[in-house]
Amino acid sequence: MGVQDVLSRKTGVIVGDDVRRLFDYAQEKGFAIPAINVTSSSTVVAALEAARDSKAPIILQVSQGGAAFFAGKGVDNKNQEASIAGAIAFAHYARSLAPSYNIPVVLHSDHCAKKLLPWLDGMLDADEAYYKIHGEPLFSSHMIDLSEEDHADNIAETKRYFQRAAKMNQWLEMEIGITGGEEDGVDNTGVDSSRLYTQPEEVFAVYEALAPISPNFSIAAAFGNVHGVYKPGNVRLHPELLGKHQVYAKEQTKSSKKHPLYLVFHGGSGSEQSDFDTAIKNGVVKVNVDTDCQYAYLTGIRDYILNKKDYLMSSVGNPDGEDKPNKKYFDPRVWVREGEKTMSAKITTNLKIFHNVNTL
Ligand SMILES: [Zn+2]
Repeated sequence: MGVQDVLSRKTGVIVGDDVRRLFDYAQEKGFAIPAINVTSSSTVVAALEAARDSKAPIILQVSQGGAAFFAGKGVDNKNQEASIAGAIAFAHYARSLAPSYNIPVVLHSDHCAKKLLPWLDGMLDADEAYYKIHGEPLFSSHMIDLSEEDHADNIAETKRYFQRAAKMNQWLEMEIGITGGEEDGVDNTGVDSSRLYTQPEEVFAVYEALAPISPNFSIAAAFGNVHGVYKPGNVRLHPELLGKHQVYAKEQTKSSKKHPLYLVFHGGSGSEQSDFDTAIKNGVVKVNVDTDCQYAYLTGIRDYILNKKDYLMSSVGNPDGEDKPNKKYFDPRVWVREGEKTMSAKITTNLKIFHNVNTL
């Protein structure tokens, strides 16, 4: 018995109720799925390879900046054109490739703050166009993050977007409370620390607003999360608070499920095993990992360049002879591959930490 036994589509990009089945299964078995921020075909490959080798499902996600990078930094992004085009390109690329890896893959877009909503609108337009032809959205899920707005506004606007997504049976992740730190130009480094911890009543208000529309939504409820890696001691995570959200929601709904809420862990880089264990025990199904993977991708390329420096200073001529060609050292398939290997190794470690190995 494994993930693939509960899915209607066993490999490739999964959508609709399969996403919920995956998360239900993860909650039941006590593991979480890493959501890897990808910015290129190379980082997609690194993530897929790690998941395949660990026999695990995976979530690939693009941020607004990552999506623009997919399009190319030379494309103007003033009305989110690059972020929309890049996100669509990413989704088609991943959809084409995922079946070759024989694992289930969730396609997701990361934080979308109020000022970035035209990006989400553009992706939803593409989802609807895809839905007309294929009967399913292009992306498995999106995130809307209006956590910087007033609580009532956040819920009302999120509900409006969820009504649109639910027509395609698409998953929606929302954020309540604030993730500290800085990511993609949204700087929350100076925010009041009380807003970094969400209350059970606030979380349940989200559930009450969204559950009548569709069960396919998750909540990133802040519990002291911060984007980026900080020195130990600088971040006080309280994943045990997530248990209180579940208990409160269970009392209110009289749900027979152990965990009525699907929860998401943001800012996973640099956290402790015990934090992940507590979070997963309390119904976290998705953990975002970005910073650690960025650094891991660099290390492979960095070490290659430093070790092979004398073979990289000119296209011909190295310590073996002044007429020796260096093509086999500067071919991007050689040095970019080194980054893929180290990023993949990092994701393999994350899969172990989240108890998501041999889960297919
Ligand atoms: Zn985040």
